[in-house]
Amino acid sequence: MSLDRFGRKIHYLRISLTDHCNLRCVYCMPEEMTFRPPAEMMQDEELLLLVRLFANLGFDKIRLTGGEPTIRAHIVEIVRGIASTPGIQSVSLTTNGVLLSKLSKSLAAAGLERVNISIDTLNPVKFKRLTRGGNVEDVWEGILAAEAAGLTPVKLNAVVVRGYNEEDVVDLARLTCEHAWQVRFIEMMPFGGATDLQTGQMVSAQENKRRIEQALGSLEPVNGGELDGEAQIYRIPHAQGNIGFISSVSAPFCSDCTRARLTPDGILRMCLLREYETDLLTPLRAGASLEDLRRLVLESVWNKPWGHGLASGEIPLNRLMSQIGG
Ligand code: SAM
Ligand code: SF4
Repeated sequence: MSLDRFGRKIHYLRISLTDHCNLRCVYCMPEEMTFRPPAEMMQDEELLLLVRLFANLGFDKIRLTGGEPTIRAHIVEIVRGIASTPGIQSVSLTTNGVLLSKLSKSLAAAGLERVNISIDTLNPVKFKRLTRGGNVEDVWEGILAAEAAGLTPVKLNAVVVRGYNEEDVVDLARLTCEHAWQVRFIEMMPFGGATDLQTGQMVSAQENKRRIEQALGSLEPVNGGELDGEAQIYRIPHAQGNIGFISSVSAPFCSDCTRARLTPDGILRMCLLREYETDLLTPLRAGASLEDLRRLVLESVWNKPWGHGLASGEIPLNRLMSQIGG
């Protein structure tokens, strides 16, 4: 079991399969993005070796993310390899959904349990503006394909950006009346160098909830107000699905955090919003033993930070969200 110095059991690994993406969301990356060359990325066999190492240390839950994980070559084989690793109980995926209409069935057959799909607005014009060119119909088809393939419960993620989609939370929330989906509203986080709107145009979870309640009536808390993962969950009375608010900026959930992140270039990062990192790929390529790598992981887990420093202006500068894995 991997414990940190605050007694948190760290057993959930988010792996970013690539920093590349087929969209350019305004809150995530600049329009002209420079991506990492393939030689610097973990190769499939390196990735699977590290997954076995983490599984041996008690990690049982894996989420694949990015960049856009579905554009990684051999994504289906990677899912199959991870899902069949002894000790791994669940493999899930965070995706923009663009390729899910093609991939859902084979991903489900390879052992993928479920998906989180990003969709920030249902309005095609606003979607194109937010993603700098995306087609919301592709994502919608991806959501339906994922549900049909049994990648459930489907969760939809929306980052809310003032001036882009703050009014659209109502239509997104309304989807839960007819669909057994969880629609989650995420506070935008700042990563140095990505874009200025991250600090000036964040919309709080509180404001999103207020806007939805003004339009659709009071929301009922689900689970007695307990967090579900990182989200506070509510329901529109009699709805099929539910609504989550993720207030990573205004009310961080550090005491419940069980996560570590592995970047596409094999760096272990223990907090999304802190720069503390441990390189695993360089020692692996230099011939480090499994015991050496194990020691590096345990030391890094032990030193997992607590709390972000956004309130005091400490913004992580060394990587963007797409380079860490959301
Ligand atoms: N490309 C996939 C997607 O969009 O779902 C996976 C990677 S993306 C970085 C993972 C999640 O991070 C998405 O839900 C995305 O909306 C969210 N995200 C990206 N930039 C963010 C930011 N600055 N603040 C908060 N969430 C962000
Ligand atoms: Fe790509 Fe996801 Fe970032 Fe959008 S949020 S640019 S889809 S990685």
